[in-house]
Amino acid sequence: GAGDIHGEVVVLGSGPGGYTAAFRAADLGKKVVLVEKDATLGGVCLNVGCIPSKALLHAAKVITEAGEMADHGITFAKPKVDIKKLEGWKASVVKQLTGGLSGLAKGRKVQIVNGYGRFTGPNMIAVEKDGKVTKVSFDQCIIAAGSEPVTLPFIPHDDPRVIDSTGALELDGIPKRLLVLGGGIIGLEMACVYDALGSKITVVELMDQIIPGADKDIVKPLHKRIEGRYEKILLKTRVTAVEAQKGGLKVTFEDEKGGTITDTFDKVLVAVGRRPNGKLIDAEKAGVAVDERGFIAVDSQQRTGQRHIFAIGDVVGQPMLAHKAVHEGKVAAEAAAGQNRHFDARVIPSVAYTDPEVAWVGLTEAQAKERGIKVGKGSFPWAASGRSLSLGRSEGMTKVLFDETDDRVIGAGIVGPNAGDLIAEVALAIEMGADAVDLGHTIHPHPTLSETVNFAAEMFEGTITDLI
Ligand code: FAD
Repeated sequence: GAGDIHGEVVVLGSGPGGYTAAFRAADLGKKVVLVEKDATLGGVCLNVGCIPSKALLHAAKVITEAGEMADHGITFAKPKVDIKKLEGWKASVVKQLTGGLSGLAKGRKVQIVNGYGRFTGPNMIAVEKDGKVTKVSFDQCIIAAGSEPVTLPFIPHDDPRVIDSTGALELDGIPKRLLVLGGGIIGLEMACVYDALGSKITVVELMDQIIPGADKDIVKPLHKRIEGRYEKILLKTRVTAVEAQKGGLKVTFEDEKGGTITDTFDKVLVAVGRRPNGKLIDAEKAGVAVDERGFIAVDSQQRTGQRHIFAIGDVVGQPMLAHKAVHEGKVAAEAAAGQNRHFDARVIPSVAYTDPEVAWVGLTEAQAKERGIKVGKGSFPWAASGRSLSLGRSEGMTKVLFDETDDRVIGAGIVGPNAGDLIAEVALAIEMGADAVDLGHTIHPHPTLSETVNFAAEMFEGTITDLI
């Protein structure tokens, strides 16, 4: 049937995946409608994810570095934190970007429909706003509904002292003692912020290392540094109960042998992962299959089982990262516009913007061995990098992995300040099928941290001459 509004391409959700898909489809000549339940565009990433967290991490970095300059002869007064002003600055960064998106949408004549969208049929979405329903019909649809934080049944999530990442980014005071439940990227980034702001931090993680999934070698320097700064890092430990009490949140921890201890915190940040929003959009009414966890399966063009309905971003699976969503958004929009575009990226880099940063791309050593690849590696310790020492930091490491049969780059892990920026070079190397000589013979600017990639390749080749 006819809708109140019709889009040749209707995009559900305006996060990095959704806005990218909408803009690309519009640039390719499609009449695009973008449905978003929130008041601003940009999704989790711009509003309550990547961007506000990086603004606060910048503030944390300045505080921490200023403090550490005392070791090098420069002492500043103890920082005074005007939390309202800091919160306001963070909000202004977000506003500038989300406002920018509105302008870009207008410029492309992308029609924004504000409200909560649910499928009512294979070519229709009903968008509800304050009880009023707008019917939006489509020829093709791109689902970009994203994800939300996982909640746990034994935690009183309605207590204001229990927060998720969104609550942590709101900077509603600085808790004296903060428990970060979950030692993944999001939990550790927020721990870094609150540590700098003056909270005493405990991190609890179920697995045997923080950032499970990343190479142990590159996680170690981060672990070592935060171990020295935080109250406690509890590994192989499960939280079994959180009890709201007048004086704080009483938390029960259980170690792997079943032994329990309790401790009381002012706030608990629950950062145990994100759950896709696939189950919340009545996808079955459009004939789109959603698995029991809420993920939507897609082919290499991002098409669901219904060829005219695509899905992208966090709602289609791991890794739940903005740059993956953006890439998939372009693939879906171009396929929807009739181009023969497929998702064929070899690798997706991951970064924890902690202090130090931890970044990796491609295979880890363990994964390469599991696949029967003869792995060779070049590891370069930043203690031998002039630039790193000039930053007052020596704990970093760049580890590049090669396939011994043809010397091609298959993965890398980097830990140290700015590791997230450095990993892009290795991602490009893998995409282009570069080998050790390509990395080793490319002239890198001196003195930069980027040289450590060059040196790691030379370590593998055995051609390194001096460590500078
Ligand atoms: P989202 O960004 O989740 O957007 C989905 C949008 O759809 C939302 O605006 C939502 O309101 C809307 N929506 C959902 N359902 C409906 C509906 N039924 N009707 C209408 N609208 C709907 N990733 C990185 O790559 N780098 C980082 O540094 C990084 N930092 C992060 C920090 C934090 C604290 C968090 C929480 C996440 C971070 N991420 C980071 C992850 C990143 O935010 C996500 O991977 C990314 O936002 C996913 O984009 P998306 O387009 O799939 O969906």
